[in-house]
Amino acid sequence: MSPNTNTDAPLLRVRDLRVQFDTAAGTVRAVDGISFTVEAGRTLGLVGESGSGKSVTSMAVMGLHGRGRVSGSIVLAGQELQSLNDRQLSRLRGRRMAMIFQDPLSALHPAYTVGEQIAEAHRHHFGTGRRAAHRQAVDMLGEVGIPEPARRAREYPHQFSGGMRQRAMIAMALSCEPDLLIADEPTTALDVTVQAQILELIARLQEQRRLGVLMITHDLGVVARVAHDVLVMYSGRAAEQAPVEDLFKQPAHPYTRSLLDSLPRLDDPDDAPLRAIPGSPPSLTSPIPGCAFAPRCARAAEADEAARLRCSDDRPGTAYYAPGRLVACHLPLGVSTGAVPHGAQPPAEEAR
Ligand code: SF4
Repeated sequence: MSPNTNTDAPLLRVRDLRVQFDTAAGTVRAVDGISFTVEAGRTLGLVGESGSGKSVTSMAVMGLHGRGRVSGSIVLAGQELQSLNDRQLSRLRGRRMAMIFQDPLSALHPAYTVGEQIAEAHRHHFGTGRRAAHRQAVDMLGEVGIPEPARRAREYPHQFSGGMRQRAMIAMALSCEPDLLIADEPTTALDVTVQAQILELIARLQEQRRLGVLMITHDLGVVARVAHDVLVMYSGRAAEQAPVEDLFKQPAHPYTRSLLDSLPRLDDPDDAPLRAIPGSPPSLTSPIPGCAFAPRCARAAEADEAARLRCSDDRPGTAYYAPGRLVACHLPLGVSTGAVPHGAQPPAEEAR
């Protein structure tokens, strides 16, 4: 899916991405044909429950999909990543695209100082001398808001608080000035105040550096705060993509509606039960002929028999819903049945 209307080539263009893993239980279709773009200077929020394929998507973009079989196209700044070998991809990682994770300790080596690790990334990609790389590391720590950066650069990751470690990881990720930052649940382990600070930091750095950001999260609050556009994933497939305000104001896909409905509200009574989505996502080892959300979908349950059959038997294609918006649903919300030209190609400017 790609609702961008900008005529310039996007920074990242992913087309029909599929990632499959062979397991003892069968082939897992972790990502099942998704398309999206990320523009320079903008944030795309990739949202979904655990197991929806959002992290696998980001790892595939980074070329870190392990034993997964990847097909489709991943073009970063005009370069097709699928045609590169491991060595070429490794050169791009850090330099053109970088990733930060929920747990900074998984990215920071416990036996080296924070400054050494940031400097090493710079030396590796640019061949910078030791002193200059160290100075650059200290500058980077200062830029991400670490007080006394020269002193903190000599400390080890375990001497940093959770929030400071996350800042250090951002400093390391951005030290080689990549074009694309993939942030995989970067604030999930942090308390609310620190979470807000880290999200503000990412937004500030993005604006200063015109970074394209792919923000992976299950948290719609994070999306509302930082994303310009949102791609909602369900069972490895795209459900809908829209500018963030439109998605919150009027979701088009019943799954998005259910996600929004499940958020607690300030005016809920204290003893109000949580509104969970009934049922659970389907197994990814069995082929899903129709819509993956069909067994849980209230909209389909209320539809007539023909529509229900269509939902369970025919996989909905991606259809134009409104300017800048795409949806994969036979019965999108806010539109009477049949009003959306299912299977129709989005207008040319939407089809990048
Ligand atoms: Fe629900 Fe049918 Fe739309 Fe799937 S295609 S989300 S089952 S209405």
